[in-house]
Amino acid sequence: MAEQRRDAEREHLWAELVTTARRTVTDGLVVGTSGNVSARVGDLVLVTPSGVPYDRLTPDDLTGVDLTGRQVLGTLVPTSELPMHLAVYRTTDARAIVHTHAVHATAVSTLVPELPLVHYMAAALGGPVRVAPYATYGTDALAEHMLRALADRSGCLLQNHGTITYGATLDQAYDRTAQLEWMCRLWLTASSVPGLTPSLLTETQLAEVGERLRGYGQQR
Ligand code: 13P
Ligand code: ZN
Repeated sequence: MAEQRRDAEREHLWAELVTTARRTVTDGLVVGTSGNVSARVGDLVLVTPSGVPYDRLTPDDLTGVDLTGRQVLGTLVPTSELPMHLAVYRTTDARAIVHTHAVHATAVSTLVPELPLVHYMAAALGGPVRVAPYATYGTDALAEHMLRALADRSGCLLQNHGTITYGATLDQAYDRTAQLEWMCRLWLTASSVPGLTPSLLTETQLAEVGERLRGYGQQR
């Protein structure tokens, strides 16, 4: 009985993960099989398989690893970015992670070491979003650079590569990626007006928003 409930929970999470991975393509945050998505339940991490188009994924393709990266479910090769995903799960309370090659975010990652504070939504990611220095995809070095850039943040940019964000749910992780890409587009747009420079927020102004966002939305 307990086993059936556990299997049903995994199947449900896998369906949600596949839906999220497909959204990254349909919303234009990645092209082809770029990017990857994962979600944690207990000590199990469900991950997108490496190099498989998301629209081909079925319930039978469920792919899972433990926190050391050992494959415990499925036969498809897990994402090449396991080192990044596992590093986040080992060191934070993340339950879901989204990695993309969103075009505006990736463009910003080639220009600055930190996304300038053009908008208060940076507070939704914990503060000014840093850029992790470049390292080859799929390596431990990239995971190390990412962890440093993620300190006290729920997202960062990966230099000449893309984005990574995490959250308590797949929806939250996805939304943070979408907000990050939007902020990068905003900065590129504002900073490309000849002769003018965008005004920026201060860390104090951002901290005030951080407080306020805790009560944002439908909470009574
Ligand atoms: P995978 O297909 O192995 O997940 O790799 C895509 C990617 O974005 C690597 O950085
Ligand atoms: Zn990538």
